[in-house]
This record gives sequence, C-alpha cells and structure tokens, in this order.
Amino acid sequence: MLKLQGIAVSPGVTIGEALVLDAEGFRIPRRFVERSAVDTELARLAAAVAEATREIERNRDAIRSELGDQYAAIFEAHLAMLHDERLQQELTSAVRDRNWWPEYAVSRTLRRYAKAFQNLDNHIAQRAHDIYDVEKSLLRALLGQRRETLASISQPVVVLAHNLTPSETANLDRRLVKGFATELGGPGSHTAIVAEGLEIPAVVGIGPFLADVSGGEPVILDGNQGVVILQPDEETIARYRQELEAAKSVAARLGALRDLPAETTDGVRVQITGNIEFPDEAEHCLARGCDGIGLYRTEFLYLTSKREPTEEDHFAAYRAVVEAMAGRPVVIRTLDLGADKMLTETRPEEERNPCLGLRSIRLSLRQLPIFRTQLRAILRASALGDVRVMFPLVSTIVELRQARMVLADVMEDLAEHGIAFNPKMPVGMMVETPAAVMMLDVFIKEVDFVSIGTNDLIQYTLAVDRGNKEVAELYNACDPAVLRLLSRSLDVAREAGVPANVCGQMSGSVMFTQLLLGLGLRQLSVPASAIPEVKQVCRSVSVADCRVIAEKALAMDGAREVKAYLRDQMRRLLAQTVA
Ligand code: PEP
Ligand code: MG
Repeated sequence: MLKLQGIAVSPGVTIGEALVLDAEGFRIPRRFVERSAVDTELARLAAAVAEATREIERNRDAIRSELGDQYAAIFEAHLAMLHDERLQQELTSAVRDRNWWPEYAVSRTLRRYAKAFQNLDNHIAQRAHDIYDVEKSLLRALLGQRRETLASISQPVVVLAHNLTPSETANLDRRLVKGFATELGGPGSHTAIVAEGLEIPAVVGIGPFLADVSGGEPVILDGNQGVVILQPDEETIARYRQELEAAKSVAARLGALRDLPAETTDGVRVQITGNIEFPDEAEHCLARGCDGIGLYRTEFLYLTSKREPTEEDHFAAYRAVVEAMAGRPVVIRTLDLGADKMLTETRPEEERNPCLGLRSIRLSLRQLPIFRTQLRAILRASALGDVRVMFPLVSTIVELRQARMVLADVMEDLAEHGIAFNPKMPVGMMVETPAAVMMLDVFIKEVDFVSIGTNDLIQYTLAVDRGNKEVAELYNACDPAVLRLLSRSLDVAREAGVPANVCGQMSGSVMFTQLLLGLGLRQLSVPASAIPEVKQVCRSVSVADCRVIAEKALAMDGAREVKAYLRDQMRRLLAQTVA
C-alpha cells in the first residue's frame, strides 16, 4: 500500500480501478514478468523492435522522396539508436535479469538516455527529442491496441495522469471517470475548478508517482483530504467504504435544507448563488436550493468545442441556464480566456507570462468581433429573464469604460434591428487584482454590482501562480493581505450601496463562511456541491458572532495563525450543531 499526499481540489471519495496516463498519454505501468514468461516477453520486445524499425524506415523513405537524403538522415539516426548494441543489451537485461515488463524497460531505459542528453548544456541536448521519438515508436509497437487514452474509456475508472488541461478535464466523461489525480497542478487551477463543477473528486500536485502504479489496480482517491492510496489493503478499503456510506447520510441530511433560506440566527438573509461552467450545472445548483447563478464561466464553451462558438451557440447555452433559473438572477461573465484557459488560435504568440498577459477583458477588447458576438447573445438572453453581465479581470477604469462602450454599441445595433433585450441589464465587474481593490471607489460609480474573484486576487496579491504545485503552500486565502483587500472591497461596496459578492473558491469553503459574513458579505457564489454546507453554516451562526471572528482574524499577522483560528472556530461550530 502506498499513500500519496497531494492538493485536495474537488471533494468526494472514490474507490476504483486505475487508468494510468503518462506525460505523452501512454500507459506505462511498472509491471514485472513471471520468470517463466521471460522468453515470451523477450520475443515480444524483439517483435516490437522489428515493427518500430519498419515504421521508422517507412517515415525515412517518405521524407527522402519528399525532401531528399539530408532530411532522411534524421531517421537513419533513429534507426542507429534503436539498434545500438548497448541499448539492446540493456533492454534485454532489464527484462531477463530484473524481470521488468518490456514497456517499462523501454520507458525507463530510454528516458535515462534522454535525461543524459538533456543535462548537457548545449545543442546536443536537442537530441533528447530523438530519443523520445524512438521510445514512442517502440511503445506504440508494444502497446498496439492496448494504448489507453482519455477518449477510449469504456468502464468506470480513476484517471491517474501526469497533468490534465482544463479542456481535457472539461471533456471527461463524468459517468465513467470517478475521480482523477495528477502529478502536476495547483490549488486554484482551472482544471481544479472544472473538476469541482463536474463533481468529480480530484487531487492534484502529487509529484511523480505514475511509475508506482499499474492500470487496472485498485486505487482510493480521497478528494476531501487530498490523498491517493495505491494498492490499498483490505482494511483501508473497508474504512473508506464506511466513509462513503457516512457521506451519503450527510448528503441526505443536507438535502433537506434545499427549500430553506440561508438565514442567520439573527435574521440576516444571505444569498447563495451557484458557480457554473456548463449549462447543465444550473440544474445541479437548483437541486441544492440556490438563489440564482452568481458566476457563469462562459469560456468553457470554447474548451469543449473545436471551433469558434457562434452567436447561436452562446445564446442556446445562456437560454438553457436562464430558463432553468426561472426568474432567478443569472450573472454571465464575458469570456475569461487566456492564462491556463488557452485559446491557441487567437493568441498572437507564445507568452512568457500568460497570467500577466493577454487574458480576460484585455483579450476581449482586442478581439472585438468575438466580444460583440458574445455580448449580442447575452443581451438576447436578457429578454428571457434576470440576466446580468460581468467583465473579468478589470484592472483599469479605461478597460471598464471601453467594455461598457462596446456593450452600448451592441445594444444600439440590436435596437436598430428590433431584437429584444433588456436595456437596463445590470453591468458588473470582477474585482480580481489589487489595482481593482485600490481603485474600487472609482470603479464602483460605474457598475451595478461587483464580484470578488479571490482565486485571482490571491494569485496577484501574493504573486503566486494559482496552478503551480511548487508554490501551493503560499497560495493562501488566509493571508492577512488577502483579508485586508477583501475587507476594504466590501467596505467600499457597502458605502456606495452597490451589491458585492465573492465568487472565488474561498466562498465555497465553509471554513471561511463566518469570516466572510463578519466582513459584511451577504452574497456568496459557490460551486453547486458546496451550496448545502455553506447554507447550513449560514443558518447556524449569528452575524454578531461572525463580526467578532472577522475582527480577530483581521488583527492577525500571519496566514498560519488565521488558518488555525478559523479552523478552530469551524470546529466549535460543528460541535455546537452536532450537540
Ligand atoms: C476568481 O478568479 O476568483 C474567479 C472566480 O474567476 P476564475 O477562477 O474563473 O479565474
Ligand atoms: Mg478569475
């Protein structure tokens, strides 16, 4: 049994069969062969070498006739590598003497060679790519049809991968993928957010572990604690099964809260809205008793489609959400593409610092036709219900004004063509940068509401990449700098009489509910799965007590102290509610 610790990003526990995908999408289990099967496996290895040889020769001949001998030489080099006597001896010995499975022997040995090249600090290091190519040819030949990819899942699995992009995650088949764990990834990445939206338990940022697991082996994934257990023993499996049963009864108890308001014990009504990425999540929010949709991340329309969404694609998605909400508010955020939510075709070139680059509203203002198409669809949807529009990552007043001008222009267009929309559609902005907080007293005069995006606010305040596991410890909502910015934003909004909401992941974590209510927040926008728990906390506390908690937390010097204090307050509350 091997217990691995990673970062918990999407709650829930699952026990299932592992599907292992390595960095290139190949499954490379660390498997051993029986002594009696060594000769068969060596024959399989020899056959794979022969097949890889044929493949490389075919490529060489094709390139030779197209581009000439000079380019064909690349493949000659691959052939020479593949047939290198020392390599062949090492592979044979790995299978014969160490009893390694041929796939594992190929992968381990060739990667060691590639690393040796990579470590050379000169142009020869490039040859590592050639070695990876040879590795892939051999693995293709060895694995043949048994290659597993995300697209070929046909039975329930727990996906164990080097990394998953937000769009790969968005395209996971949620009926079959019972959970996933990755070597890379940070706490605030969009992969994490999608996992939570899809309600797939997930753990990221574990570090290298794929060499320790084989596809088909049992695995326990605990998305509450950020733990993955490989080859679990019977006792551990039994314990987790019990936990799963207990979770079901808690869910049933919380389900009873659906139609009750989120009202504190001293009579303050809190709005709890849902964060969604896909239209069908609106139903999940309703089933948990939401007061509307506080954040619709529309960029996911792009991540699940291979082509540019049309106005009709946008409109159909928005209409589905607005109709499902039956009069409840729906805040549609305009495209927040860029950073880890890539849109390669419209990006001019590789950015060195995509989080600080052309993303969100900056990108929309550069890509006006795309922006206008989306605004038209949002406006058309505004004729069908309580639709509000919100701009992401606004950092200067000019951006806000430009975005509003484009909106006004699109409204004029629609009016000219007699297309229905709400001319008074509320317009809001996200507060996600320290600049937006510092200037909020200015911005607030030009918006109808604000929504604080703590995921990015933490990233930009603490200068910590939200998707990087190496700095995950520093990515901390408890940091006093973050608390002060939040407090200041909520004060400015209150004084201006403008509604404010927090829609970052922080508001979905019950550890922060009392703090946020104490800071004056009355609207929380959270992932569907968090609605019942957050509602329960709201119904169990008084605003008066929450104010005391917020004051104490604000007076603290460090994130650790704040975290310990909030955890303690949460524990006390749980003890009271259970008693
Ligand atoms: C945020 O930054 O807090 C937010 C809600 O937006 P996103 O996570 O989509 O960047
Ligand atoms: Mg954001």
